Amino acid sequence: MSAPIKGPLFLTNTLTRKKEEFVPLRPPHVGLYVCGPTVYSDAHLGNVRTFLTFDILFRWLKHIGYTVRYVRNITDVGHLVDDVDHGEDKIAKRARLEQLEPMEIVQKYTNGFHDVMRLFNILPPSIEPTATGHLIEQIEMVKRILATGLAYEVNGSVYFDVLKYSSTNKYGELSGRKTEDLIANTRDTEGQEEKRSPLDFAIWKKADATHLMKWPSPWGEGFPGWHLECSAMSTKYLGLTFDIHGGGMDLKFPHHECEIAQSVAADGHVPVRYWMHGNMLTVNGRKMAKSEGNGFTPEELVTGNHKLLEQGYSPMTVRFFMLQSHYAGTLDFSNAAMQASEKGLARLMAAMDTLGNLKPTGTGSAEVIALEQRCYAAMNDDVNTPVMIAELFEGVRLINSVHDGKLSMDAEGIERLRELFNTMVLEVLGLKNEDESKNDDGVLDGLVKEFIRMRAEAKAKKDFATSDRIRDQLKVHGIELMDTKEGTTWERV
Ligand code: AMP
Ligand code: ZN
Repeated sequence: MSAPIKGPLFLTNTLTRKKEEFVPLRPPHVGLYVCGPTVYSDAHLGNVRTFLTFDILFRWLKHIGYTVRYVRNITDVGHLVDDVDHGEDKIAKRARLEQLEPMEIVQKYTNGFHDVMRLFNILPPSIEPTATGHLIEQIEMVKRILATGLAYEVNGSVYFDVLKYSSTNKYGELSGRKTEDLIANTRDTEGQEEKRSPLDFAIWKKADATHLMKWPSPWGEGFPGWHLECSAMSTKYLGLTFDIHGGGMDLKFPHHECEIAQSVAADGHVPVRYWMHGNMLTVNGRKMAKSEGNGFTPEELVTGNHKLLEQGYSPMTVRFFMLQSHYAGTLDFSNAAMQASEKGLARLMAAMDTLGNLKPTGTGSAEVIALEQRCYAAMNDDVNTPVMIAELFEGVRLINSVHDGKLSMDAEGIERLRELFNTMVLEVLGLKNEDESKNDDGVLDGLVKEFIRMRAEAKAKKDFATSDRIRDQLKVHGIELMDTKEGTTWERV
């Protein structure tokens, strides 16, 4: 028997637009699929927000007792420029511009993506399949869709017949679109000549002679349509129907709508039980995107080397900034909000240090039990990280009150508070104390703290000559001490 789940967990299902109790198909197992990056350029902070959203979900599901198989793919073929069905492949275009093999582009930006994920402490998925590694599965899926009559072949390309499909199925249910409106709004006629309806989408595209990334198929040399890979890979690893599918809001239509149609057409199963969509990171109200020129890379962020940045910010400051708003709402990047996050995170980490040395004072631990319950309630309520963080700051208040002798707490209460902070701050929110990680093994941090303690002792004895000398000498070595309400912290200058 596995341990009981610390739930129930409620999630907003973007298919039904309701908050629903999450009940997996095969508890304690949970299947989670998230659309991964198209590896043709550096990841920007907007991409980071989406992967962070699902990192928190992954961490929380595991924490409350589920065994999670998390699949996040790498799109390394089939995603055409402007997300349409004609024109150049994003990766092939980049290969041409950088004068590299497409697979060199794929490798370069996959490596870069992994570095970015590590930088922000985003955990790797259980399986990270690539589209080019699953061509056989995709070709088989095209064959199954053709066999049901819901796709047709024209001149070496295969298109999904949306109107035929929607005569018996709900196309547009996820994105809330009606086929009539979609047709009325179609302006683009380029590349549509082969299609029966402008709503149809390619599941296999014929490659012309100059095309670099192509494979043999029953319909001639070609490559898979962008939406197909996710259908083929999610169901291969998670089953024909699985628990959760996630991605950024911008993928709802057409990508996810098409994924549903493909799975229903090929296998007769609605593939996903809970759809979850993270909202966009914006800059001055506009979606952060490479093409907008407002998509700064993590490197620019850390160095502050971008016209929109007033200073550099650490990766954990960014992580904390993003988690202070709920994943379903938009989040606007601003220097003021980042600076506030920097301070907030420092306060949280300083309180954790204080907590590490906190001594029991009398009796009582009721506040801790209530706090713990509120933290679980927040996270189980649609992964509400901002509410949970607000609760943690209530915890900071408790820690400081005990430290200042204004509140009594017994040893059990302190231990429970430590456990709660370690779990929620480090394991669930995935925050790290960057002061410690600056010097890999924490030796420097330990030494500076020893000096801080000696300085406090000197001050207590009114030996200000010594306390000032400690502060000044540390500064000579590039370490600045800061006296705050929560105690003394330090940083490199
Ligand atoms: P791509 O590599 O363009 O396929 O995008 C990878 C993921 O990043 C997708 O889930 C997108 O929805 C997401 N994404 C792209 N731009 C933003 C943004 N500004 N804010 C949040 N997520 C984004
Ligand atoms: Zn996808």
